[in-house]
Amino acid sequence: MRAIRRFTVRPVLPASLGALNELAGNLRWSWHPPTQDVFAAVDAELWESTGHDPVRLLASVAGERLAALAADEGFVARLEAARADLAAYVDGDRWYQKRTAQGTLTGPAGGAAPRAIGYFSPEFGITAVLPQYSGGLGILAGDHLKAASDLGVPIIGVGLLYRHGYFRQSLSRDGWQQETYPVLDPDELPISLLREESGAPATISIAMPGGPDLLARIWVASVGRVPLLMLDTDVEGNPEHYVDVTDRLYGGTSEHRLRQELLLGVGGVRALRVFSRLTGHPEPEVFHTNEGHAGFLGLERIRELTAAAGGPGLDFDTALEVGRASTVFTTHTPVPAGIDRFERTLVEQYFSEGGATPGVPVERILALGAEDYEGGDGAVFNMAVMGFRLAQRANGVSQLHGEVSRGMFRGLWPAFDEAEVPITSITNGVHAPTWVAREVFGLAEGADPDSDDTGAFFAAADDVPGARVWEVKRALRLRLVEDARARLARSWAERGAAPAELGWIDSALDPDVLTIGFARRVPSYKRLTLMLRDPDRLKRLLLHPERPVQLVIAGKSHPADDGGKRLIQEMVRFADDPEVRHRIVFLPNYDIAMAQPLYPGCDVWLNNPLRPYEACGTSGMKAALNGGLNLSILDGWWDEWYDGRNGWAIPSADGLDDADRRDDLEASALYDLLENQVAPRFYDVDADGVPTGWVEMLRHTLRSLGPKVLATRMVRDYVLELYAPATGHARALNSDYAGAVDLAAWKRRVLAAWPDVRVEHVESSGVNDAPEVGAVLTTRAFVALGGLDPQDVSVQLVHGRADAEDRILDHDHDELTLAETYEGGRHRFDGDVSLTHSGAFGYTVRVLPKHALLASDAELGVVALPL
Ligand SMILES: *Cc1c(COP(=O)(O)O)cnc(C)c1O
Repeated sequence: MRAIRRFTVRPVLPASLGALNELAGNLRWSWHPPTQDVFAAVDAELWESTGHDPVRLLASVAGERLAALAADEGFVARLEAARADLAAYVDGDRWYQKRTAQGTLTGPAGGAAPRAIGYFSPEFGITAVLPQYSGGLGILAGDHLKAASDLGVPIIGVGLLYRHGYFRQSLSRDGWQQETYPVLDPDELPISLLREESGAPATISIAMPGGPDLLARIWVASVGRVPLLMLDTDVEGNPEHYVDVTDRLYGGTSEHRLRQELLLGVGGVRALRVFSRLTGHPEPEVFHTNEGHAGFLGLERIRELTAAAGGPGLDFDTALEVGRASTVFTTHTPVPAGIDRFERTLVEQYFSEGGATPGVPVERILALGAEDYEGGDGAVFNMAVMGFRLAQRANGVSQLHGEVSRGMFRGLWPAFDEAEVPITSITNGVHAPTWVAREVFGLAEGADPDSDDTGAFFAAADDVPGARVWEVKRALRLRLVEDARARLARSWAERGAAPAELGWIDSALDPDVLTIGFARRVPSYKRLTLMLRDPDRLKRLLLHPERPVQLVIAGKSHPADDGGKRLIQEMVRFADDPEVRHRIVFLPNYDIAMAQPLYPGCDVWLNNPLRPYEACGTSGMKAALNGGLNLSILDGWWDEWYDGRNGWAIPSADGLDDADRRDDLEASALYDLLENQVAPRFYDVDADGVPTGWVEMLRHTLRSLGPKVLATRMVRDYVLELYAPATGHARALNSDYAGAVDLAAWKRRVLAAWPDVRVEHVESSGVNDAPEVGAVLTTRAFVALGGLDPQDVSVQLVHGRADAEDRILDHDHDELTLAETYEGGRHRFDGDVSLTHSGAFGYTVRVLPKHALLASDAELGVVALPL
């Protein structure tokens, strides 16, 4: 019989156990082992069977057990200690508060400490029991919130609550990916509904074309100190097709996605306003959009500033300046197909009069997302392009990705060299308390992973004897092997195998064999099956009599990507072969729960993307923090931090047009490394069975990479380099909006006058025919500024190494100073530069707009050079 309705009855806990609800209601438990131990002590079996889910644990624990715990003084005292610890964590002063008090929060870029930051993302991966993520983007967002919480950074997360989350993956008998979409009951999730004072659920609404308004309620998850707001359209009053807006992550038509993004961006800002009104939480001064999906938030903020919305009645350009100054945009993909684009006509429909942001002219909205540059498509609305135009500060997620992004988006700043495209980079990081096994933390006894000096923590492993390190690694490998066997058994049961066929699983994988992990989503650029390029060679590596390797593989393919599913099938068929199945396994349903024992259990983490499509990659960082060695193509973060001793670089044949040949070359390099370097080092053990050379690399990995790959390092970088400067600018514009009015008017005036700005003539002296290092070049530049004043511009001497075509490479620039003013808006600017390097040298003079509230030289996109 099927129930016609289903709901969850929450337990009534004895008063002395009330703290259990508090602990379950704050997701800090998910990265705090002592709190997890408290839940395990409530009922160890249930803790396991619920998959470490406190809400479901408390909903199912027997009344007698609760009564026994309530009478157990030891337990009650432990519970109170855990509650006090959480309270101290949430209320105490942390890095952000201390730095703010010292006045040292701002970095070289200046600015001010924001009272709050809104962080928007379509997915958040925080714990396996709140499955609202598909892959790296979501995990990163989760780690960003957790690290912000640990540092005391006042972030508020904004996202959607998907009724099915992402899909659950299983396999058919013949290895084809199967997708199921279990319904998530919000009552069984660690979230609570935001309510009005009347007790009614708080809602937001958005006007939709030709229909009633779209309604959404707001769930709040507590991520340590950080609230995460999640919008949900499953509310009474919405027609069925609106209820489905938050049905699942990354499914459905392009219009479906547009509605989700409208809800996230426009609805997200409205939800923040409601949240502040009801809780007194400060309003964000900075808005950070994690990838282009949330970009519509900028339009809603412009709407708020119009008179129609009861705002200060700014014109579009002025409101745009206010929004831009306080917005940070992070781009996450160098794969053109990964960029979010809509048909222009679809966007027009949703934002025309009476649409989502009334009062904001639709032509201006369309212009923001227009690909109006060389090679662009006029019929398309591009969310990344809008992202750059609505944010004064933008970044990629590793140095290499920053570089690639500057090339990819340079069409938006055609007057500038690629190096000056205003996209910086902040390399991603991972949240150590979530991803590092307790035993690994245990190696550095006495060192405090929470202290500001994380370097000391990671160096502590240096003093631990090799035998102890190796004992811990074996225990972690064994845990992975056991988890993998249990998963294999469940998977084969689902694939229709009889128990009698499954005896082999008890000896699948071996806790003493070199273990290599490969787990990630399965888009084609990640090349899941590169290792299968030469199946016989792989077999020989797996079955080597003295130095075998074993592989643990996992990954989901997007449900609409049959190409990816074929790759999975190819992998599964290889792994099903009785000859090798004890050495290579594909584990279905890669998620946080699988990932947590996987990273620590691996000796080597393999990554072989097509360079440079891996924007950053974070799984290798998680492996490194657990003493795993990376074996990877030099892409993303590994390109930046591989140092020759912390792992291995697979040589990349990028630049080679023949994709097949490239795969052949890179696969063969991978086999060579495994055979000649990785396996021999792993199996070269001393008299105590400890591979000393390997352990040395492991220690070096922890020491060299540990402090860098942390999400706390990443969030500090965001605060110092982006959030604080943005706050400084935003305050200068916002106080009474006079600053914004001025800036918008100044930009209009400068752009109107720019066609008349010219470098007319440049004179130089001080350098004879054969200048030597140390010579000083004196320059006088005669420029015409049309109607502009000298203080509106920066006149620069640009100089550097010159190539054979007289292009200036790696250029530097010095500002020239105003020396004389003539009739008709003409001026002379002078300056010197000393020649510090030998070799070909080139220079030129250029004029750029200058204003204290610009964030980069290229911001207005205009420059004047000598004719
Ligand atoms: C870390 C992680 C990812 C992202 O890994 P990448 O290396 O960035 O591809 C995806 N899924 C899960 C479950 C993870 O833990």
